Amino acid sequence: MKKPVVDKNACVGAAVCVGVAPEVFDLDEEGKAFVKDPEGADEETIQRAIDGCPEDAISWQEE
Ligand code: SF4
Repeated sequence: MKKPVVDKNACVGAAVCVGVAPEVFDLDEEGKAFVKDPEGADEETIQRAIDGCPEDAISWQEE
């Protein structure tokens, strides 16, 4: 199984990912995205969040 990971150094808090997949991504107190539930949406939806991130801060990690 693969799951999304966020590179917080690259994230600028644009929150595109949260808009696309609010069950998967959330913003922390610093306004950086984190993965709250890697299984909160199907792969296609998560891929749309990855594609929509302006900083390419989200990637897949194989488990
Ligand atoms: S879309 Fe990218 S830059 Fe924006 S909050 Fe999500 S990970 Fe960060």
